[in-house]
Amino acid sequence: MKPTTLMLAMATAMALALPGLALAHDHSDHGAPAAATSSAAPASAYYKGLRGDYHAAQARWWKGNTHTHTWWSDGDSPPENVAAWYREHGYQFLVLSDHNRMQQDSIARGTLALSYSQWYPIEDDARRDALETYRKHFGQDWVQTRTSDKGVTEVRLKTLDEFRHFFEAPGEFAFISGEEITDSYQSNPFHMNAVNVHEIIQPRNGATSAQVIQNNLNAVLDQGARSGRDVLAHINHPNFRYGITVEDILPLRYATGEGFFELYNGHHGVENYGDAHRMGLEKMWDVILAKRIAEGDGALMYGIANDDAHSYTRWEVGANANPGRGWVMVRANRLTPDSIVGAMKEGDFYATTGVTLATLESADNQVSLEIEAEPGVEYTVEFIGTRRGTDLRGRPARDLPADLQGRASMRYSDAIGVVLDTQHGTTARYTAKGDELYVRARITSTKPHPNPFKAGDTQMAWTQPLLVTARR
Ligand SMILES: [Zn+2]
Ligand SMILES: [Zn+2]
Repeated sequence: MKPTTLMLAMATAMALALPGLALAHDHSDHGAPAAATSSAAPASAYYKGLRGDYHAAQARWWKGNTHTHTWWSDGDSPPENVAAWYREHGYQFLVLSDHNRMQQDSIARGTLALSYSQWYPIEDDARRDALETYRKHFGQDWVQTRTSDKGVTEVRLKTLDEFRHFFEAPGEFAFISGEEITDSYQSNPFHMNAVNVHEIIQPRNGATSAQVIQNNLNAVLDQGARSGRDVLAHINHPNFRYGITVEDILPLRYATGEGFFELYNGHHGVENYGDAHRMGLEKMWDVILAKRIAEGDGALMYGIANDDAHSYTRWEVGANANPGRGWVMVRANRLTPDSIVGAMKEGDFYATTGVTLATLESADNQVSLEIEAEPGVEYTVEFIGTRRGTDLRGRPARDLPADLQGRASMRYSDAIGVVLDTQHGTTARYTAKGDELYVRARITSTKPHPNPFKAGDTQMAWTQPLLVTARR
């Protein structure tokens, strides 16, 4: 993030917060001046009402996941069990992103909302296990059940506003409301997460694949403009059933800070790495970046890692979408939805599957970073980019088998997304020569991922791309 932007954002947030602060003190019984009571009980109660830490003077890193499912759609546990997992595992923010539903009464049309009421049927062992955990953690008096006409136990799903008080605390944990807009084009899945939206968004559909994405993106951004909130939309798992190609994403109209996609999704069915005929998501990222910068309006695409967790009662690599496989670290002053999303729109975050950065600086044609080293673990940092003048043309893939499932992007030059430099150790620095369009860092550790997307994966991290200014 540019320091000037950060300062401006801080000043704006403080200006917005101050009138309310003054009001709270004006109405206090003590009538003490605001400065004298700033750390006393009434002020902290006021801050708690804001569901965020408004004391923080300096930016710090916050760990969060922007893609998670619960019983509100096809997750295997009630939202309280899900939130508890993340809270217990060191996350500070969480987006519960159910398919075409938020954790409230409203239901969008579309697929995968398994239960069309707030009463959720307990029909199998996984659900019985989840119900048992739910009762054990939250108590008999919290869990509401009834028996249907057919004799099936049903649980009443609580809304986000009913259960958020269990988890949220200033500077410790915050929910950011959201939804996975679950749309399709022909038979291909087109999913997009809307983050920090507060009203359900109906899948918008479209006459072409690119239009489906653009129409849903516009719906998210329109709600942001209407509400005055910082919202973002990220394109999900492009290689899930190979539904979304690089050519679907290229024509999208973005303003700066509006391009996000899942570089890494922890669901075992999403083909992050591609196959013999289709590119992996890192290559897709490089093609999009190179073409947007060299041929388009230069708006960057940011890469997100998340787990897209569905399964909290069954744990198995390759069979269950478990939590904790990937997440983002966001640098922001405050743990509030607007502050976190605002920082992400500035590109001030990185994606990780386990590697943590102690420092990350990215400005003035230079990227430097330091890794929080773990004993016995080795790290390789690769700086990746595309040089100016590289052939960016796509060529139709002509050798595809007739029975290939899904769709295929065009083929692009191997010179797109090349390793510019490789460094070993816990610190790394790259100074651009000026012939690169952008540069980004990929960190690979030797530490096995405890529950990876694919068996054998080691822990990694990816920084956001730095736009390189050409030397004259
Ligand atoms: Zn999805
Ligand atoms: Zn999902």
